[in-house]
Amino acid sequence: VFNFSAGPAALPESVLREVQDEMLCLPGAGASLLEISHRDKLFVDILHDAQDTLRSLLGIGDDYSVMFMQGGATLQFSAIAANLLRGSGKRAEYLLTGSWGKKAIAEAKKEGDAVAIYDSKATNYDRLPTAGDYTVSDDAAYLYYCSNETIQGVQFAEEPACPASVPLVSDASSDFLCRPLPVDKYGLLYACAQKNAGPAGVTVVVMRKDLIERADPNIPGYLHYKNHDENDSEWNTPPTFAIYVLGKVARWLRDDIGGLAAMEKINREKSDSLYKIIDDSNGFYRGHAQPQCRSLMNVTFNLPSDELTAKFIAEASKQRLAALKGHRSVGGIRASIYNAMPRAGVETLGQFMTDFAAANG
Ligand code: PLP
Repeated sequence: VFNFSAGPAALPESVLREVQDEMLCLPGAGASLLEISHRDKLFVDILHDAQDTLRSLLGIGDDYSVMFMQGGATLQFSAIAANLLRGSGKRAEYLLTGSWGKKAIAEAKKEGDAVAIYDSKATNYDRLPTAGDYTVSDDAAYLYYCSNETIQGVQFAEEPACPASVPLVSDASSDFLCRPLPVDKYGLLYACAQKNAGPAGVTVVVMRKDLIERADPNIPGYLHYKNHDENDSEWNTPPTFAIYVLGKVARWLRDDIGGLAAMEKINREKSDSLYKIIDDSNGFYRGHAQPQCRSLMNVTFNLPSDELTAKFIAEASKQRLAALKGHRSVGGIRASIYNAMPRAGVETLGQFMTDFAAANG
């Protein structure tokens, strides 16, 4: 089955096979990884290797901390505001370009003054701001945005404009590792793993070290980035299995794919092929995202009616194309084509779309 789920999503087959091989007995351990202590040197080496591989893939400098946390991307909505907003006397500014940004600002408001300086709600989050659509205050606590809104399928092609004095914060959950990223433009970026980076259970936080010191020490301990940084992601028991798989996915990207530029090229080919079918369908398929902000990862589109959408999903599943139903707020179809979705999966879906439009258009 080709699985187009928005997450948890497909993992590289070679990684799954390695995990299967090592499940009963981790080389050198005499036990399964699931059975060894997080303080065991074997696991600590695995954790460091995962951090180092991410550092080399993304070119992360020593002035940034790479932390592995639990609580999903959702906990970061609160953690970011607790560390960088609470007690700062400043206001945090948000670009709202989809569902996840909205959820993030709702949590930030519990910690302090958080305002949306851009919101594309009026057009059901089908677009992104361009220069002049918003202004960031020079003394904002941070500027927050979501680089790829998974539900609407809108993705920033590059970082939004932000004054040098303001830390840029990104929810990169659904496009992390899909292309090279200029990490040094960010104060903090984070991603839950269960789309491009591994299984559910671990969230990667990349944070400029000088910002780690800003938090009020009285915030809840687990939210306090300083605890995770100082203890090398072992302040408490980390999600050992998820980190172990994440390290393997990062190695697959680096060694088998050839790095993030090579991955981006493949992702562009895959997504372009589906968008072309949408554009060539004489209006049978209507893309949700405006063409200039289409996502490489989540291809969202509508059909002429709910009946045809239901028929599309039912017939697709007979051809082993699974999890294509769009989120209820957008309707239609969402094909999530993360890094591990093979070209063959996208080609099979593309052929199915072409045939379906010919038969039903
Ligand atoms: N942010 C984005 C962009 C997402 O796609 C998701 C999940 O799909 C989340 C946040 C929430 O992630 P989690 O379920 O790990 O909290």
